[in-house]
Amino acid sequence: MSDLLERLRGRGWRVTAQRRVVAEVLDGDHIHLTADEVLERATARLPEISRATVYNTLGELVTLGEVVEVTTDGRAKRYDPNAHRPHQHLVCSGCGIIRDVHPAGDPLADLPDAERFGFDVSAAEVTYRGLCPDCARG
Ligand SMILES: [Zn+2]
Ligand SMILES: [Zn+2]
Repeated sequence: MSDLLERLRGRGWRVTAQRRVVAEVLDGDHIHLTADEVLERATARLPEISRATVYNTLGELVTLGEVVEVTTDGRAKRYDPNAHRPHQHLVCSGCGIIRDVHPAGDPLADLPDAERFGFDVSAAEVTYRGLCPDCARG
């Protein structure tokens, strides 16, 4: 059972076959798919799904705050369903694989007052970079 789908149902989201497939494709841990990857996987499950529906549904999920957009490589936006579980990202500089990670500290709380420059700071994103075991071996 999809956690994302359950959340959406709980919010009264109108679930059609096409929208359900998009939500199912996005369900899970360490999921960071580009729109094209979502389309590809959704099409594998429901061949008649349209590109427009996939893109519109993604936009809607982001607006609802159930899916967050992640950009780690300065290129394609990726869609992350774990909007309600605060986490940071570990990115391989070789193959680009992305892992959800949970630092021991809170990056938002860890910024000293002296370096807030009077900002009302509301969010922090940390990207850890390195080589995954496969790339390190390569
Ligand atoms: Zn790698
Ligand atoms: Zn993530």
